[in-house]
Parts: sequence; C-alpha cells; structure tokens
Amino acid sequence: MSTLKAVRGTRDLLPPETALWNRIETTARQVFARYNFGEIRTPIFEDTSLFARSVGEETDIVSKEMYTWEDRARAQSEKPQSLTLRPENTAGVVRAYIEHKLGETGQLQKLFYIGPQFRRERPQKGRYRQFWQIGAEAIGPPSAGSESPLRDAEILEMLATFLDELGIAGWTLELNSVGSAADRARYNDTLRAALVPLAPQMCVDCQRRAVTNPLRVLDCKVPEDQPIIETLPKIGDSLGQESIDHFAAVTAALQAAGVPYHLNPRLVRGLDYYTRTTFEFTHGGLGAQNALLGGGRYDGLSESIGGPKAPGIGFAMGLDRLVLTLQAKEADQSSAPPQGAKADAYIAPLGESLNAPALTLARELRRAGFRIELGDGSFRLKKSFEAADKTARHIVILGEDELQSGILTVKDFASGLQTKVPRAELPSMLAKPMAQ
Ligand code: ATP
Ligand code: MG
Repeated sequence: MSTLKAVRGTRDLLPPETALWNRIETTARQVFARYNFGEIRTPIFEDTSLFARSVGEETDIVSKEMYTWEDRARAQSEKPQSLTLRPENTAGVVRAYIEHKLGETGQLQKLFYIGPQFRRERPQKGRYRQFWQIGAEAIGPPSAGSESPLRDAEILEMLATFLDELGIAGWTLELNSVGSAADRARYNDTLRAALVPLAPQMCVDCQRRAVTNPLRVLDCKVPEDQPIIETLPKIGDSLGQESIDHFAAVTAALQAAGVPYHLNPRLVRGLDYYTRTTFEFTHGGLGAQNALLGGGRYDGLSESIGGPKAPGIGFAMGLDRLVLTLQAKEADQSSAPPQGAKADAYIAPLGESLNAPALTLARELRRAGFRIELGDGSFRLKKSFEAADKTARHIVILGEDELQSGILTVKDFASGLQTKVPRAELPSMLAKPMAQ
C-alpha cells in the first residue's frame, strides 16, 4: 500500500518552525492593535459568485486557480450551490461588512485577518496551494473619511513599521495609481487599441486578454511578451485630475513620514477590484516569488457585490514568504543560539508507583508557569538522563525517598551541578537564569 502524504502544494508546519510563525502573527497583532484594528474571521469557503464578481472573471485567480465544487443540496428540490475555497480574504471581509451592515455605524471599519487561502497554482518555493495571509482592510462610508489619501498613507506606514519591527530589512515599497473606474475604462480603451497590431505576436492568454480585459496583459509573466509590454502606454497618462491629486497627497504624506517608496508605473496587481493606489512590498531574498505583500484601494468593490458605497483600502501579506525571509536572515546569523527550545525541567519518576506523584509535581510547576517535560517510571535512570539532557535545562529526580522527605535531587545540565532542593524551593531554583 502506498503511504499517504500531504497533497502537493500543501505542507505540515512543525515545531520549532511554528514558533517563528507565531512570532510573526503576534507581532502583527501587536502592531495592528496600535493602529486600532480589530480581528475578523470569515469562513474558509464562500459562494463562488462572490469571487467571480469581486476578484474578476478574467483574473488568473478566478479563471484557473480556484478550488470550486458543486455542493450537493440537502433537499431534492434545492439546487446544488457552487462553493469555492477562498483564494483571498478581501472579498469575504467586504461581504461580511455588507451582511452585518457595518456601514450603518458611520465609522471607518478597521479589520485585520490571519488565515489560510487556497489557489491551484504550480507549487514552487514561496508558492503553495494552501498558503497563509495576514491582511487588513480600512473600509467605510465616504462620510467616515474612507476615501482620504491619509488612509492610504497610514496603511503603508503601518506596513513599513510592521516589517521593521519584525526585523525584515531591505524591503522595497513599489507604488502606483491605477486610477478611478472611469480612468481605468479610458486606459482599457487605449490599451485595446494599442494591442490590435501587437496581440497576434503575444501568448494565447494575452490574445484573449487584449479583447476581454486589456489591463490584465500587464500581468503576463511570459518572457517573450515583456519587450512588447514595455512599449504599451502607461496608466499614469490616463489618470484624471482627482486620481492625480489623490496620489500626490499619498506620496506627500509618505515623504513627510519618512517612508521610502519606488514609483512603478507597470504595477497593476492581479485582482480586478483595485482602484487608485496600488502597491507591493518586495524583498530581494525571495527570488522569483519576490512579493511579500500586495494591496491597494477598492473604492467600488462593495457596490460590485451589491453593497452600499464603501470605499476602502487594504493589503494581504504572504505569511509563508515572511517566514522564508526571516529564516534566510537567521541562517545568516547562525551564531545566535536557538531560543526557548528547552523545557525548564524534566521530571523523572523512579518507578511506576511514582508516576502519579510525578504528574502532581508537574501540575504544580506548570501551573506556576514553568515548561515541564514528564518522564515515565518505566524508564531506567540512564534513559531518563538522556531524554532530559536533550529536552530540558534540569532533571528533577522523584524517588520514594524524595517523595517522603520532600527533598528533591536536581541536576542543572548547563553547570553539571547536582543538588538537593526542598520541594518548596524548586520554583525559585528553576526560575534562575540559565548558567552561561
Ligand atoms: P504573485 O504575483 O506572487 O502571484 P499575487 O499578486 O497573486 O502574488 P496577491 O493575490 O496580491 O498576490 O496576494 C498577496 C500576497 O500573498 C502576495 O504578495 C504573496 O506574498 C502571497 N501569496 C499569493 N499567492 C501565494 C501562494 N500561492 N503561495 C504563497 N504566498 C502567496
Ligand atoms: Mg498570483
């Protein structure tokens, strides 16, 4: 019988690596809290039409990357429903914003999420079929200031602070404006006309996009198409005055706050709902999959899925890619000792009759906040010492004598010293910093 493995493009995350994942998530929670964002958790699957209508039918995500199935109806009379594992989380957040009438509060809603997303992509380093995103959205009625360029600048400044606090040095903020819906329509017409003589020399996807959604041609990754794409008109030349002013206010605020950025007129992002400000943070250490995160404004998204006018801006970071970046950095600084990997003590009961008292002692110490490994009375002392040396800073021996007298034998592996310690003094002894 063949052995079962995690499905291609998915993977298990094991300790100690999960400690790094937790550190990133904790830093995100701490930083976002300082900007007064609250957490939202939406379902992992949604009605397929949510993604078709928000992300866009012509995008790579919707046209070829979604995990979709017909969910059998419970009653014969009901039609099966087309459901999809979420490929991204903004659509779900905006759906929830509409469903719970959050706009009626009149306040800007500042929401963040952490969770897995699913796309049927060709798996490679930094690109998986189940991957994790940390993202945030600031969305609300225009009266709540949701259209202000200050929101864009604040989100970008928050991201710069988050990456700096995480210790990710050397990121680049790539910034562009894709204009309002009207600007984009104008640009699409310009592109469509420009592509008439060029499309026949391009890949089949671009030949289709040139007719259906010319903007998507700029997403093309086929190397032979890149010189042609370079000659196409730039979106910046199609922007209306409002979009130009909005973008100028964003960049002015970033300059004032000291957040460095790089203008990239080709950055259009792979989702149809973006308007005006769009951005990516990239990192050179990631190779081909160099985008740490992406985001932008989506002023018309709520209306496109049947909601009220609710302009917003948000981003999604690839948690897997943040982990890869930090692992590469830690490998560079390999002199740093692994932190927090060992338990404070290993309790070794000398005989099976001491298992229950050992569990009691472990319970006391764990409730006092210590990290404890519990051995087993069937182990010989030598085996206990070997296991303890690998997993803990101390071994605490619990034999019949120790139980009666209340005096425990403790060995500190760092110093090699073995001492007798009254049970009541064990917590203060374990709390002492590790011998150097
Ligand atoms: P890319 O150009 O790398 O495919 P994207 O434009 O599809 O990215 P978004 O949909 O904007 O990415 O998602 C935001 C972030 O989520 C990306 O910048 C990346 O860090 C991460 N991400 C996207 N797809 C994957 C994936 N398949 N595996 C791991 N991380 C991913
Ligand atoms: Mg992609």
